[in-house]
Amino acid sequence: MKTVRQITILGSTGSIGESTLDVIARHPDRFQAFALTANNNVEKMLAQCRQFQPRYAVMLNEQSAEQLGQAVHSAGLSTEVLSGIESLETVASLPEVDAVMAAIVGAAGIRPTFAAARTGKLVLLANKETLVMAGRIFMDMVKQNNATLLPIDSEHNAIYQSLPHCFDGNLTAAGVSRILLTASGGPFRCAPIASLDAVTPEQACAHPNWDMGQKISVDSATMMNKGLEVIEAHWLFNAAPENIQVVIHPQSVIHSMVAYADGSVIAQLGNPDMRTPIAHAMGYPDRIDSGVSALDMFKVAHLDFEEPDFERFPCLRLAYQALTAGGNMPAVLNAANEVAVESFLNKAMSFTAIPRMIEHVMEVTQPEEITTLEDVLRTDALARNKARQWLSNFQ
Ligand code: NAD
Ligand code: MG
Repeated sequence: MKTVRQITILGSTGSIGESTLDVIARHPDRFQAFALTANNNVEKMLAQCRQFQPRYAVMLNEQSAEQLGQAVHSAGLSTEVLSGIESLETVASLPEVDAVMAAIVGAAGIRPTFAAARTGKLVLLANKETLVMAGRIFMDMVKQNNATLLPIDSEHNAIYQSLPHCFDGNLTAAGVSRILLTASGGPFRCAPIASLDAVTPEQACAHPNWDMGQKISVDSATMMNKGLEVIEAHWLFNAAPENIQVVIHPQSVIHSMVAYADGSVIAQLGNPDMRTPIAHAMGYPDRIDSGVSALDMFKVAHLDFEEPDFERFPCLRLAYQALTAGGNMPAVLNAANEVAVESFLNKAMSFTAIPRMIEHVMEVTQPEEITTLEDVLRTDALARNKARQWLSNFQ
């Protein structure tokens, strides 16, 4: 039996990717970085190759791969450098790979994440967009190929930890009455609504509790992140939308809760550091050191809770709407959101235009069933075009 788990990290240069490597570095007896992948950050990837000496390094961008290849060669490393989306799929599915950390941001992560599920890997899922875009297809793919899916998103990891060990997808049989999905409320929870129009990307990316990539930081500020997570929870735990309640909890100490029929509420708590859910999923079922400091209850002192305000956070309403509509709508929501966030970060539109763009794209899209990954990718491309069109008319 193999003792060292071979891991592919999709998106190793990102926030989740770096935290994953931090956990790997603490446990060389348990884990080995088999393949690392990134979009175009050659410098960071070279440093990671030096430290972790993976078998493969993949850059999506061909020029970046060429640069990295030369640098790896000059450094005398034996890492093989590849490029392109097919290579991302390859390193997620090679037979030597035991586990895949799916931590590419956005829809770009869907194909390699599917490749991991198709080849029966242990899939450590940070890329929530895969479940939002293609929840049913992805969950079927996991089941049919005996893949194992463990959630990395801190809330879903908390829910996983708060459910019974033998949970088989039937919440009623497990005695669960509701899932309580916590949300920090982001940086604008208390800002005057009238001031939101003038919010800058820098302000939106300054999250009060978590240090994350830019896209998810903006999603947290609009609360679209929580909307995407409601959809993610629906697929992971087979939960009806009305049984998933969003609870604003500004301290981000309780990462989510499960309420049971007998009145019990089970929660998972911890400091807001993604290395905890990462180490939980990587070591599962063992508990391993993550490098996260112990939670000091006296420092925490208060745990506050509020109801979400759907007027302040229209993205949350749109996400529930997309989940209830089903079919292509969650993929449409996701694609429009990605274009909206990118346009906001590029200063091509305002913060408050984000929900307006998404709502428009949902309104002008015909509801449809989707049954294949190709359908999902087509839906994604069409919705992106409609979002860009709206932006060019709107300017
Ligand atoms: P990030 O922006 O910090 O990193 C993204 C990674 O993906 C980088 O390695 C980048 O090189 C790679 N990448 C970007 N575009 C790519 C493309 N087109 N093709 C291939 N690779 C590409 O993002 P992050 O904050 O680490 O988030 C990653 C995923 O994890 C997201 O889906 C996010 O929602 C989820 N997540 C993140 C956190 C967090 O704390 N950061 C928490 C929960 C869930
Ligand atoms: Mg989360």
